[in-house]
Amino acid sequence: MDFEWAPEEAEFRHDLKTFLEAELPENFDAFAMEPDEQKAFSKAFAVKLAEKRWLTPAWPKEYGGLAQGPWQQLILSEEMVAHGEPRTAQYMCVNWVGPALILAGNEEQKAYHLSRISRGDVVWCQGFSEPGAGSDLAALRTKATWDGSEYVIEGEKVWTSYADTADFCFLLARTDPDARKHHGISIFLVPTDAPGLTISEIPSIFSAGTFNQCVFDGVRAPEAWRLGPENGGWPIIRQLLVNERVGVARFRRAAETLDRAAEAAREAGLLADPVIAQALAMARAACEAARVLIYRVVDQRAKGEAPEETAYVYRVATIRAERAVYEATVQVEGSGALLKGSFGAQQFGHALASGVATGTLEMQLNLIARDVIGGGRK
Ligand SMILES: Cc1cc2nc3c(=O)[nH]c(=O)nc-3n(C[C@H](O)[C@H](O)[C@H](O)COP(=O)(O)OP(=O)(O)OC[C@H]3O[C@@H](n4cnc5c(N)ncnc54)[C@H](O)[C@@H]3O)c2cc1C
Repeated sequence: MDFEWAPEEAEFRHDLKTFLEAELPENFDAFAMEPDEQKAFSKAFAVKLAEKRWLTPAWPKEYGGLAQGPWQQLILSEEMVAHGEPRTAQYMCVNWVGPALILAGNEEQKAYHLSRISRGDVVWCQGFSEPGAGSDLAALRTKATWDGSEYVIEGEKVWTSYADTADFCFLLARTDPDARKHHGISIFLVPTDAPGLTISEIPSIFSAGTFNQCVFDGVRAPEAWRLGPENGGWPIIRQLLVNERVGVARFRRAAETLDRAAEAAREAGLLADPVIAQALAMARAACEAARVLIYRVVDQRAKGEAPEETAYVYRVATIRAERAVYEATVQVEGSGALLKGSFGAQQFGHALASGVATGTLEMQLNLIARDVIGGGRK
């Protein structure tokens, strides 16, 4: 078995690193920027990446990609995350909105939307969660009712990241209220300036501008905005959730923070303390476990296999890695971990978000119990 990177993969990583190091300041972290500054920066940076076709390298060439494989996609994610994720909102477009369009879009939708994403011209947001539908996403109640000429959308979405800056919302709505809950859902590609859509900020413990509420009050949606078959949204959603769960190499950001915290501990002479040394070692082992598991997902993809179950296991491993790194930073910094700018404060937000966004830790464990241990959906 050969564990080395192929020459073209090593070259891609090298070229990416060289580019990122030239373009970004040392220890750049997009998440430490003020919201408006971050949004403007990521938009401009996405265009620079797009010029090299590095925003969507895994996409087919006709849609603005380089037709690279899953390993290059992973390398891209690792290097972006290791360099402070300068793409921010774009991760969503390139990791799962675009792939969902490639999977289920008609020719007009692909031609219109994919070229805009691969040029870095647009930002999307994800209109999934509702006040009564988070973990149980299929319980969503936002409805799209056909009135004979158009759909009329009514409902409320919450926790919608980037909605305030997005051009489009990837919206889930119920089109058949009488069908079993997974069977009556459709997907709509809604411009955020559509009349009847109101977006407002939800205050949160994360930085300002993180979350939004989107109220749909009689938004009129032509049939052309529907992605995939009416009432056939769920199988598409399941695939895109796998892409979302593995799309960001979160373990890599955690490992970078851990390395810097370990270096600070070494400089302060703290490594002689067995509690601190063990916390750092446990966190390093957790990051490595997550790395190996995502490589397994990528390997399955490269072989054309469906990685759904491995993706749940990876997601749990990466959440645990992020939490272990947070615990290690607290051991190193003590009460200093509460201060703004500390390793602990930085990692707290990431560890917290990781265990909730794109399905909570408990839900990933439920999925493992059902599909990995329990023999699948009955
Ligand atoms: C940083 C961040 C960004 C986000 N961005 C978006 C976005 O862009 N778009 C979007 O649509 N949503 C977004 N979300 C929302 C996210 O998807 C939901 O918060 C998540 O799915 C959980 O849903 P909920 O908040 O309604 O919690 P609930 O579903 O109410 O869960 C509350 C608690 O109960 C537990 N629980 C619930 N059901 C079960 C069960 N069956 N078994 C065991 N435990 C259970 C959960 O694990 C959790 O601990 C984001 C969230 C975060 C933190």
